[in-house]
Amino acid sequence: MNDQLSNRINSLPVSATLAMAAKARELKEQGKDIIGLSLGEPDFNTPEFIKDAAIQAVKDNYNSYSPVDGYADLKVAICNKFKRDNNLTYKPSQVVVSTGAKQSIANIVMVLLNPGDEVLLPAPYWVSYSALATLAEAKFVEIPSSIDTNFKITPEQLEAAITPKTKMIFFNSPNNPSGTIYTEAEYRALAKVLEKHPNIYILSDEIYEHINYGEEIFSFAAIESMYDRTITVNGVAKAFAMTGWRIGYIGGPEWIAKACNKMQGQITSGANCIAQRATIAALEAPVSKIQYMVDEFHKRRDIILELLRAIDGFNVNTPTGAFYVFPDVSAFFGKELKGVKINNASDFALFILEYANVATVTGEAFGAPDCIRMSYAASEAQIREAISRIKDALS
Ligand code: PMP
Repeated sequence: MNDQLSNRINSLPVSATLAMAAKARELKEQGKDIIGLSLGEPDFNTPEFIKDAAIQAVKDNYNSYSPVDGYADLKVAICNKFKRDNNLTYKPSQVVVSTGAKQSIANIVMVLLNPGDEVLLPAPYWVSYSALATLAEAKFVEIPSSIDTNFKITPEQLEAAITPKTKMIFFNSPNNPSGTIYTEAEYRALAKVLEKHPNIYILSDEIYEHINYGEEIFSFAAIESMYDRTITVNGVAKAFAMTGWRIGYIGGPEWIAKACNKMQGQITSGANCIAQRATIAALEAPVSKIQYMVDEFHKRRDIILELLRAIDGFNVNTPTGAFYVFPDVSAFFGKELKGVKINNASDFALFILEYANVATVTGEAFGAPDCIRMSYAASEAQIREAISRIKDALS
């Protein structure tokens, strides 16, 4: 019945991370003991003080539609958070609360892009950026990077990728899938190029900002010449272990915020009211309240790096944020493992799913075809067992 479906949906790829999770689930149902390192989800519970705020909101009868762009006091809390953590000054009229950062990004793409516009995606990039650009009938243009540059693009590459049709660029630091963090100096060098091209908008996805291991985090909109054309995206899913609560938000130019408000006024009528109340508690708390999760991720990162570096053929850099490692596994390409020919990262990810029963995600989905993404948002015991199985399967 695919021919009955719209071209729009038929042009949309299935999310590679969700496809891998589905395949892993299928094998689990067949009785296999699969260790999942494929999903981008903290394995912690939402902190008690946030849950308490949600329970209180239910008791206080928060049950009606909220303003489409979010409760006024939540938007004030978001402005205070932007000031405190990012040195960004936004007024509540520049803020829109949405059903997850994914919807925040979808809104921006839908309100800014026309068919044929070009969107620059520094690779590796989060899978949904390219999918959403496709949905908006824009053309996405990858700017490649590799482990040799710590998965960062250069100003020269940016300059070379820009055409008169370029409308937007996506930045994501700390990065999913590479864990890379751009420094202030690196961002300023990229901004110098963009200063010459005033018609390009910048989407800066900073959702992993708090999950960093001692790096200085810098917000793109903090560059004065970029402030008027940058939309800063953030959310509570990753830092506060609130993936299922579905709250994301933006700060940006007022006219873009207004357009996003109009868009979601037709699509969702605004985000869930209880989750919005809980988000106020999350954002008003000192960042130190979630440090225990960051410390645990840090410990696991060190463990997974040490274990992976002991396996021949894995080329691993040291990611400084998020909860992913992104090894280059191209040393295995062209080889035969247990009678299986490995031609690319997808073959490799399927091989370790089948022979080590460990689920990861192919880098092809992220525009980095030499790599696989492994999430260490799993227990230390699971990480140790997973890497030991991979080592055995490859030996
Ligand atoms: N941006 C990035 C880089 C992400 O990894 C994710 C979640 N995987 C999101 C945005 C979406 O976050 P949310 O769950 O708030 O929609």
